Amino acid sequence: MNIDEKYKKAGEIISTAGGTPIPVNDTLIKILKYFIMEDELDFITAFNEKKSQTMEQLKLSSGLSEEEINKKVKNLSHRGVIFNQPNSKGLMVFRLLPLVNVGTFEYTFMGKIEKNERNREISLLFDKLFAELEQMVQTNYDALIPHLSTLPPVDRTVPIFDNKPKNEKIKIVIDQEISAAADKIVPTKKVEELIQKFDEIAVGHCFCRHHKDMSGTPCKQTNERENCFTFGKSARFTSEQGFSRMISKDEALVILKKAEDAGLVHKAYHPNFDTSKDETSICNCCRCCCANGVDNMIIPIANATNFLSVVNTDLCIGCGNCVKHCHTYAAYLTDDKKAGRKAELCIGCGVCAHLCPQNAISMIEGKERIVRIKPKKK
Ligand code: SF4
Ligand code: SF4
Ligand code: SF4
Repeated sequence: MNIDEKYKKAGEIISTAGGTPIPVNDTLIKILKYFIMEDELDFITAFNEKKSQTMEQLKLSSGLSEEEINKKVKNLSHRGVIFNQPNSKGLMVFRLLPLVNVGTFEYTFMGKIEKNERNREISLLFDKLFAELEQMVQTNYDALIPHLSTLPPVDRTVPIFDNKPKNEKIKIVIDQEISAAADKIVPTKKVEELIQKFDEIAVGHCFCRHHKDMSGTPCKQTNERENCFTFGKSARFTSEQGFSRMISKDEALVILKKAEDAGLVHKAYHPNFDTSKDETSICNCCRCCCANGVDNMIIPIANATNFLSVVNTDLCIGCGNCVKHCHTYAAYLTDDKKAGRKAELCIGCGVCAHLCPQNAISMIEGKERIVRIKPKKK
């Protein structure tokens, strides 16, 4: 095999490490050349059969000594290609990361990266790859979209509970009949409770907005950048590799508050998309840059939520603030200047309720719903 064939093979293996379909093409190979050196390619093929391995397994699959493996892992984890943290039993596990969602792309742009030619080139290559992915999805829309629309939700909305203009609590209405979705263990609902749960909290850059900055198309919604949180094992990994920094609970709460006031949506991520398991991270997303947001979506979005907004039309003055800030275009104004929202699009983030000058929006709390939004066929 020549070098390009080896990169192609590595690309094929990496493309099966995550749930997002990635085209194995020249653009991917160009990207991989920035993250995997030629003498590391054979090591990547050791993950062909099994994406997570212990040291003993890796010695067999790679044919390398412990010392050689540690040397390769040190460099590859620093570039966001391999995740190396002990499991719950304290045994070190090495996992080959996908390119995206969540892998090399996210960890690269979570760190503080310099604005230079190299990083701009990487950024533009990712743009190109995403455009090619979009084209692939659009070309095979009828075959791919039904399948991709059944995938589990990648994130869960954690709503805002305070109204900013009036400095009041948002009204919460309990309705257990809101959805027919399966009953599950109720996950942490408040962002403050979530922060209290973890002793290890790290913050990094919003990789979506940071990537857009590098590509020259900065976020239209906010200048906030350092507000992507990781917890526990993920916090240790990202901070050890220089993608994030450890912070106190107090600092985390200050950053989260700023995110709320900027109209950003708290979205929690759980291991294997299982909302009964403790969160690994929380993002504060805008509508324009977020890969899991409507303006930027390539494949269908699936979001889990226990909330749904409802407008008190007696209080609504028709200012349109909720429509302007709604993350999913669920909010609208009627001809008689009263706000409403489309339930099937509402992810229950509470951004509209937080910014409403009348505190006219309540949140209905119920069983978990999955909100699915598909990209349009072009
Ligand atoms: S998912 Fe949201 S907060 Fe996280 S990196 Fe993307 S836009 Fe930023
Ligand atoms: S922000 Fe409040 S007052 Fe303004 S349109 Fe929406 S619901 Fe009505
Ligand atoms: S209407 Fe929009 S902003 Fe309000 S909770 Fe639903 S998704 Fe969020």
